[in-house]
Amino acid sequence: MKSKQKKELAEKKSALGISDDLLTALWIYDIDKYQIFWANKAALSLWESDSLAELKQRDFKPNTSLAVQETLLDYQQKFLQGETVSMFWRYSPKGIQKEAFCQMSGYKMDDGRIALLCEAIPSDLIDEKFNSNSIILLATYDAQMEFLSGNPPFVELISGESHQLPSVFIDKTVFLRLKRTVERDEVFEDDVLISTKQGPRWHRLIVNRTKQAHDNARLLVQQFDINERKLGELALKKDATTDLLTGLLNRRGLYKNIESILEQDSRFVIYYIDLDGFKMINDSYGHNVGDQILQTLANRLTDKHFEKGLAARFGGDEFVWVIREEDIEDSQQELANRLIKKLNQPYFDKEGHPMLVSASIGISLYPQDGDNFNDLILRADSAMYLAKKQGKRRWVNYIKGMESHLKRQSRVAQYLFRALAHKELLLHYQPIFNVRENQVHSFEALLRWNSPQLGWVPADETVAVAERVGVINEIENWVIQQAAQDLLMLRQLTGVKVSMAINISGIHFVDPHLGSYIKDTLKSIGLKAGDITVELTESALLSDIDNEVTSANRIAESGVNLSIDDFGTGYSSLAYLHKIPASIVKIDRSFTERVVADPTMITSIFNLITNLKLCALVEGVETLEQSRLLEKIGINLQQGYGLGRPKPIEYYLNSPSEIFDLKAK
Ligand code: C2E
Ligand code: CA
Ligand code: CA
Repeated sequence: MKSKQKKELAEKKSALGISDDLLTALWIYDIDKYQIFWANKAALSLWESDSLAELKQRDFKPNTSLAVQETLLDYQQKFLQGETVSMFWRYSPKGIQKEAFCQMSGYKMDDGRIALLCEAIPSDLIDEKFNSNSIILLATYDAQMEFLSGNPPFVELISGESHQLPSVFIDKTVFLRLKRTVERDEVFEDDVLISTKQGPRWHRLIVNRTKQAHDNARLLVQQFDINERKLGELALKKDATTDLLTGLLNRRGLYKNIESILEQDSRFVIYYIDLDGFKMINDSYGHNVGDQILQTLANRLTDKHFEKGLAARFGGDEFVWVIREEDIEDSQQELANRLIKKLNQPYFDKEGHPMLVSASIGISLYPQDGDNFNDLILRADSAMYLAKKQGKRRWVNYIKGMESHLKRQSRVAQYLFRALAHKELLLHYQPIFNVRENQVHSFEALLRWNSPQLGWVPADETVAVAERVGVINEIENWVIQQAAQDLLMLRQLTGVKVSMAINISGIHFVDPHLGSYIKDTLKSIGLKAGDITVELTESALLSDIDNEVTSANRIAESGVNLSIDDFGTGYSSLAYLHKIPASIVKIDRSFTERVVADPTMITSIFNLITNLKLCALVEGVETLEQSRLLEKIGINLQQGYGLGRPKPIEYYLNSPSEIFDLKAK
């Protein structure tokens, strides 16, 4: 070795932080001549050699497979560009199997050729995490992809017939992809599932046409076993795309799948599924029962009749099922019917008790209803919302413009959260008269919201959104307080002992603290529980009669009066009249509308109510004619625009005489 070379080597070694005494083996290999040109002490022992002279004599050609030589020649080109290569390599000096982690770089010989400078750390000195699985497998193939040679780890690991390239791959399409890539003279690099003697394993594959082969192009295939790491990654990925409770895809998993369906541009249908009455089950029977219902639904969605679709849990009790149009055997409608039927089979708890839940479905189609995931989901969701509104347990197809309703809802929800804190909520009071005695009987407190962003929001819309986003109890507790304070003022200023009716949502009504809350609130300002009447809309009371009757009894026991609102519009009217300890029944406005044309209907309702010894009240009285007719039938408690509109408290405080002056109207 010339002194200049020695100096260069010394510099290189010191740059690498190694010296002859270290365990790191260092040698220079003359690729073209199949000979070691120089080696340090550690390298001598790695190569099982007593002296440098002996090692330099060795001819490596007979033991170098074509694949390895091709690889080295390829590396030579890389070294020319100043690149380095690191990998695990196996050696068999004097028949002893060894492996080492090698860092290879180029070393310029005197004659200008590039040799290989190898820095090797024996595997047994290396941390576990670089385990021998990172051994490189090398194989070469000719231009026709015929197998030429492989290094020992390749021969050892890849089974006999699998030498031929296509049979190495478990997924044959990978081979086609690879072929196309190398034909373009590009490097193919990917994680691929390979058929090995140990079974299928994940390998990192790097395939390129060797650069130095001028005559016949050769294909050089390098493989690293990355099985453990890859499996770990895949498990993580699965977790990130799977819903743990049901095993279905989660929102993210669904998103990815739909994106890839969109890429293929096939037509598909989205079914957005929502359970009706699920929240109540969760609240009253606990999460275990709730979870079980969700699992049952997931099982039904993956049932063999629906296996062609893709099922996902979208969050909470919302699921999405997607199917390509080409996979629908009958029609989209028929499929929707079958899905609704399947998902609405009874649900049971662990003890076999039936649970009161059902499912509603909204449907959107690609490409008709949207060209991206978010729009399609939003539209299926708005159709689902309508399905619920139309009475649940049914499916509804998306129709253009449906989602504007949802958009409005989310805007209302957004501002409703601040409405309470910002004191944007108000109450208006509508008088209820006893027309026979020409007296005010009571007032009904009605919610008003003047939002700076939305303007006046109708009360039923505010209430529906508040129920949906879970702030209804808070709002109604405020209503109770405000109405009670105003009632006190009304009484003090007018000297009339009227009472106050407030509307309570079905959700709030089953809250066990409601009765005592009203009682305590009234007591703290010197009123009695009986000064308040809670109005309960009949249609709000359909999900769980037993629970509602219990709640009604509890509220009645605390001394608060109950009245049934909008009577005649729900479909279990009679059941409620018998079971709920109400004192007043408010006949719905729709009957008042028809009283002039046909009084028989409202008359029979009135008789039904009085037979049950309950007090009838009629809503929506808009004309004096209606009022007189109703009085003639015997309905004396009347409320309506024709008798008095809902007004702010100030109106009554400023002109108390208005309240009495009924006949003057
Ligand atoms: P509701 O309890 O049936 O209240 C009567 C509704 O009919 C009120 O509408 C009232 O302004 C209106 N009304 C009164 N007389 C007439 C009439 O002669 N003709 C017509 N066409 N309408 C009349 P509003 O204030 O818009 O309230 C709508 C619904 O919102 C209420 O219906 C009630 O169910 C609900 N609501 C209002 N405030 C609350 C509340 O604090 N909590 C709950 N849960 N619901 C409330
Ligand atoms: Ca009412
Ligand atoms: Ca009503």
